[in-house]
Amino acid sequence: MSFQNPVFIPGPTNIPESLRKACDMPTIDHRSPLFGQILHPARAGVQKILKSDSAEVFIFPSTGTGGWETALTNTLSAGDKVLAARNGMFSHRWIDMCQRHGLNVEVVETPWGEGLPADRYEEFLTADTSHEIKVVLATHNETATGVKSDIAAVRKALNAAQHPALLFVDGVSSIASMDFRFDEWGVDVAVTGSQKGFMLPAGLAIVGFSQKAMEATKTGTLPRTFFDVHDMAKGYANNAYPYTPAVGLMNGLNQACDMLLNEGLENVFARHHRIAEGVRAAVGAWGLELCAADPTVYSDTVSAIRTPSGFNATDIVTHAAEKYGVAFGVGLGEVAGKVFRIGHLGSLTDVMALSGIATAEMCMVDLGLNIQLGSGVAAAQEYYRGHSAAVQKDAA
Ligand SMILES: *Cc1c(COP(=O)(O)O)cnc(C)c1O
Repeated sequence: MSFQNPVFIPGPTNIPESLRKACDMPTIDHRSPLFGQILHPARAGVQKILKSDSAEVFIFPSTGTGGWETALTNTLSAGDKVLAARNGMFSHRWIDMCQRHGLNVEVVETPWGEGLPADRYEEFLTADTSHEIKVVLATHNETATGVKSDIAAVRKALNAAQHPALLFVDGVSSIASMDFRFDEWGVDVAVTGSQKGFMLPAGLAIVGFSQKAMEATKTGTLPRTFFDVHDMAKGYANNAYPYTPAVGLMNGLNQACDMLLNEGLENVFARHHRIAEGVRAAVGAWGLELCAADPTVYSDTVSAIRTPSGFNATDIVTHAAEKYGVAFGVGLGEVAGKVFRIGHLGSLTDVMALSGIATAEMCMVDLGLNIQLGSGVAAAQEYYRGHSAAVQKDAA
């Protein structure tokens, strides 16, 4: 690997120089007002990025997985029923966590490559007249398959069934890169981490709780200590934590929020869409297909690309690392060996994306796939020439 090259894994993502500097700071007293000057703006920034006026934002020294655990253990009791679709490795892992906590998960098996089936959710919710289902889980962006789901449709399903279950959304690979509407979608807990859209090193679990989710913390009896949101809230009131916070990372988060909000959230989302469209143009030119079933579910943060049968897609990832010092994502779970992934989120430009597309192309040609060198690059170049941010600005 070369430290000079950008990474094309779907997290951790490339860290902008300014954020690396923000994370690298001298020790301060983490129980002082000085820490409050990092903590409170960081929480306010996250709230804005969630498009929420009221979400209570909690930040734990952890990762996205700790965010899942925060959501579950603060609101639920052993034996509670949870409704969740499994359509990839990350939805699978959240379901697995529920089961290990003694929750009773109604799993809606969904083909990998498809989005969450809101219609099936509605059937289960409508049938659940005694309201045993306490929580509905929804993975907004399934990072294993490059599939985006329609969270507004899941909210509609809950409303259509007039069901009071809470809506928990995994936004680990969407928040801060793709449009996320906490308030509008009626999200009760949103989960993310520091190392994807926020462009920071791994080390923070970032969650938003609705007032309804905060109410549920009063009845949930699952054991919780490290991830107890009430301990955390008590700490925040005194510019502190119940334990030692990751101060440098939180300083980075504060700056990352400023960076994203200064670019403008809609511009951030448009940039991710544009970069993703260029990658997809390349995939088309290679004659390959995405794992994502159709354009309505194409993810703007990661593309999982199917390789011809009989070919081990993981070889591309290994070869890229060994020969060119570039990182792509391997296929996970059911699609291991069948897909490789190009992560295109975080601190990335059209020009950086072209280098990743060019590398993937060299690897596939090196490994004997019937692909024309330059074909994907040219398709992406054509797309980026016609859709540059500058062109959009001029047109506006
Ligand atoms: C990366 C990711 C996770 C896990 O996050 P960690 O920070 O690795 O714990 C969960 N869900 C999705 C959708 C992800 O992309």
